[in-house]
Amino acid sequence: MNQLNSAKCVAVIGPLVSLLVVTARAQPLWELAKEDKGTLVISTLFPAQDVRDRLSTDKGIDDAIDWCKKTGVTHAFIESFRDGYTAQRRALEHARDRFRAAGFDVSGCVTTTKVGKDSTGWKSIACYTDEPTQKRVQEIFEYTASMFDEIMIDDFWFTDCECAECRKARGDQSWSQYHCDLMVRVSRDRVLKPARAVNPNVKIIIKYPQWYSAFHERGYDVVRETADFDRIWVGTETRDPDNGRWGRKMQYEAYYIMRWLGKIGGAKCGGGWFDPFGTHEDTYVEQARQTVLADAKEMLLFCYGALLRDTGPANVAKLRTEIPGLFKLAALVRDKPLRGIAAPKPPNSDAHNEQYVYDFVGMLGLPLVPTDEIRTNVKAAFLPVQALKDPRLNDKLAVMLKAGTPVLVTDGLAAKLAPAVDDKNLLVLNVGGQPRNLLNLTRQDLKPIRDKLLAPLGIQFDAPNKVALYLIGDHCVVVENFNDEAITASLEFSQPIEANKALVLPVDGQAEFSFTSGKIDFTRITPRTLVALTY
Ligand SMILES: [Zn+2]
Repeated sequence: MNQLNSAKCVAVIGPLVSLLVVTARAQPLWELAKEDKGTLVISTLFPAQDVRDRLSTDKGIDDAIDWCKKTGVTHAFIESFRDGYTAQRRALEHARDRFRAAGFDVSGCVTTTKVGKDSTGWKSIACYTDEPTQKRVQEIFEYTASMFDEIMIDDFWFTDCECAECRKARGDQSWSQYHCDLMVRVSRDRVLKPARAVNPNVKIIIKYPQWYSAFHERGYDVVRETADFDRIWVGTETRDPDNGRWGRKMQYEAYYIMRWLGKIGGAKCGGGWFDPFGTHEDTYVEQARQTVLADAKEMLLFCYGALLRDTGPANVAKLRTEIPGLFKLAALVRDKPLRGIAAPKPPNSDAHNEQYVYDFVGMLGLPLVPTDEIRTNVKAAFLPVQALKDPRLNDKLAVMLKAGTPVLVTDGLAAKLAPAVDDKNLLVLNVGGQPRNLLNLTRQDLKPIRDKLLAPLGIQFDAPNKVALYLIGDHCVVVENFNDEAITASLEFSQPIEANKALVLPVDGQAEFSFTSGKIDFTRITPRTLVALTY
């Protein structure tokens, strides 16, 4: 309803309609989010401490519901346990029922920090070889399953303990094998089985952390655990890539891991989860865009309490402006096959000194197709040292090269290929054990790499470093400028096309372009701006 029509309605029908109109207008994102939740769900988490401090009075719940509605959040995760604290049953059930009555979907959550015997490694992580710790975990999940039909496990469900008891139980296995076997067994015996015994309807989500290069070292086994659990979720919290404290993660990582686990989990893969730590408005919303661009069905804003302090309110204010655009982006990518350069990371593969190299390669304007398996029937491929996990690597590489498929390998992998492969279709990317150095490659350095790898896809792309390209289905392309400066770029198709601007984020961002025949010339894309074109 536009302003003019609603004004007429009010004049004719009177104060009741006026009130309704005002109410609907006050919560436009809530109305939009309810309408569009088949495309994308926005959710948040109330950690156990928030349940105690912010959801234990009706006033606190009213405030939380109001914040959610203003943010387009339609799904509330209400947590029963974190950091050794168990939220009270009365508070959990009351909050659950109030949110449901207000029209929300409601789920539970457990964060397995300070559960029992401490690990010798990460702080707050437990030793799950320890029997009393296993029993405590079981109690926590039985308690939670008695109240909720869906339970998320936040990404501390791992162990890196190397205590005497663990060493003895490990025998002659590697630590990685032992920790994976242990977490698979404890998940089955102490989480899934007992929770389902208490509540046969319960669905349990394992949420994988964002640190995918090291999953198997600490007991996350994405193959067996994905098979065992009902659903999987993904940590997409890249934060600010220039903030030293928070790991210096590339924005593309959120996209890579969400797509990679989406491939592994298939229909089981639910949403991506990111937080405000170490971010400012621009980097905060980049996490949302990458999560949605990677076909997440849901995005979780961790967490209510954290978003009310520090940079949280400014981040959320900016996110709210982008939410209508994020729904559009979700509709553009939903279930569309990706085109591009196959970028396989076999599960449980060691990264050696090429940790997260996929994320940096994605920042170079090479449209990756994240996958878990090295397949030979692809148009182009990128293979780092992680590919060594595949015992048939050499054969597969030979098949691809013989077929004329361009393959980009890292110098780390090239050094291990035996006998040394020399082929005109093989390109070597000099990483030097420092993936971050790839960000220093110039536009001129990148041109021959892009030209070679994109030729079989029938496109050419030219842009500075840190401008990512995504080929979504057969009629959509997304370009995202992660630089703090405006850029120019060009994208050339081997066939004539007619391009239309489908979306620009942020809402005040600009992407100016012209096209002649098959060539799109971006004369200006503003800093930290995403543009989606359909053709
Ligand atoms: Zn131990």
